[in-house]
Amino acid sequence: EGDGPEYNYLFKYIIVGDAGVGKSCILLQFTMGRFRAEHDMTIGVEFGHRFVEIDGQTIKLQIWDTAGQEAFRSITRAYYRGATGALLVYDITRRASFDRLAEWLVDARQNAQPNMVIMLIGNKSDLERREVSYEEGAWFARQNGLFFLETSAKTGQNVGSAFMDTANQIYENL
Ligand code: GDP
Repeated sequence: EGDGPEYNYLFKYIIVGDAGVGKSCILLQFTMGRFRAEHDMTIGVEFGHRFVEIDGQTIKLQIWDTAGQEAFRSITRAYYRGATGALLVYDITRRASFDRLAEWLVDARQNAQPNMVIMLIGNKSDLERREVSYEEGAWFARQNGLFFLETSAKTGQNVGSAFMDTANQIYENL
């Protein structure tokens, strides 16, 4: 009592992908409904949470962000430990971030629990100057057994769906 809201399940999520793809912004948009345009590592969000309902059950989504560590390639096993969901993010306006997905997947498969649900996200869908087509993203997801959405952390488009589709799948796997 008095320790905050009650919940039936806790799902840990991690957000991975190259620096600059919009991981912190996705977290901020989902947890606070806000967008921050200036890139400032010093105020990078590291953790966030939000309560959601599935089937009348209250679920706490606890979300971990790398907060800049990915630049130093030091994402550790501890980060993956217990994670039931992962958002694997690239930037549709930067092909290099898409080309690195295979490496991120190897890392995830080596460190994560086998049933971790992975949602591939092509972020910055509000921008016109794309370098990666929707079809390429969908194809990569299909080849690797991932879910797929394009999102905008700026407008909020599909951000909620990315977390909720993942949560529904984790819930089904329980
Ligand atoms: P991280 O390093 O992956 O955590 O990336 P950030 O969340 O810090 O975002 C990097 C930069 O991209 C920042 O300047 C953001 O404002 C910008 N950004 C992130 N998401 C979006 C988006 O959906 N649309 C646009 N236009 N810019 C974005």
